[in-house]
Amino acid sequence: MTVIDDIKDRLDIVDIVSETVKLRKSGRTFIGMCPFHANTRTPSFVVWPETGTWKCFGACNTGGDVFTFVMKRDGLDFKDALQLLAGKVGVELEERKPEAEIEDRQLARLREAVAAAAQWYNHLLGNNPNAQVAREHLTKRGFTATTIETFQLGYAPDDWHGLQTYLAGKGFSIEEMVDAGLLVQHDDGRVFDRFRHRLMIPIHDGKGRPIGFGARALKAGDEPKYLNSPQSALFDKSRTLYAL
Ligand SMILES: [Zn+2]
Repeated sequence: MTVIDDIKDRLDIVDIVSETVKLRKSGRTFIGMCPFHANTRTPSFVVWPETGTWKCFGACNTGGDVFTFVMKRDGLDFKDALQLLAGKVGVELEERKPEAEIEDRQLARLREAVAAAAQWYNHLLGNNPNAQVAREHLTKRGFTATTIETFQLGYAPDDWHGLQTYLAGKGFSIEEMVDAGLLVQHDDGRVFDRFRHRLMIPIHDGKGRPIGFGARALKAGDEPKYLNSPQSALFDKSRTLYAL
């Protein structure tokens, strides 16, 4: 576990945001007035404790994690935000090169993007009408609801920008989605969802965190039949063992 993950694990983003923003629980989220723009009427600031992320749906239209929140709030650079949050949870920081911290942080963001994608695909497997064929495929092969949840199997919808829109709403940048292997980028800059109308099988690292996907075609003639996440900073194909 990187020091970033360690700190995030021990921190509750709701506590940190609540230091300066009055939050109200709303289902699985917390909402409040955005501290980063003149937000006085309808609360536009949302915090997701499960993913440790936040987003302003108002004028800012931006979001991030607990680190970006503290950086923005206190006007800190990443290194100082790290010091501050490490101090709060009693994590000892080794003296490391700043580049190493930045790399850790970028990796943590990619990991979060893949985890959010896995959750979304998993949700759609149970809820998207077009996922029927994926559910039948699994039932025929003897997968139970428990197995599906354990492996967090999912369904990627037949949509060129479905995941992109979803993750943008969670505060992830296009660059992060491309780097995580979730979007494909053309030379001219246009992007689209890599996985469409496929059964999604998350591939985990040694700590059980999803870092990529194996994706099976659901329509006869869709090639390739199995499409995997590309090699990325997160997903080292030569080193990852398939759990399934
Ligand atoms: Zn705002």
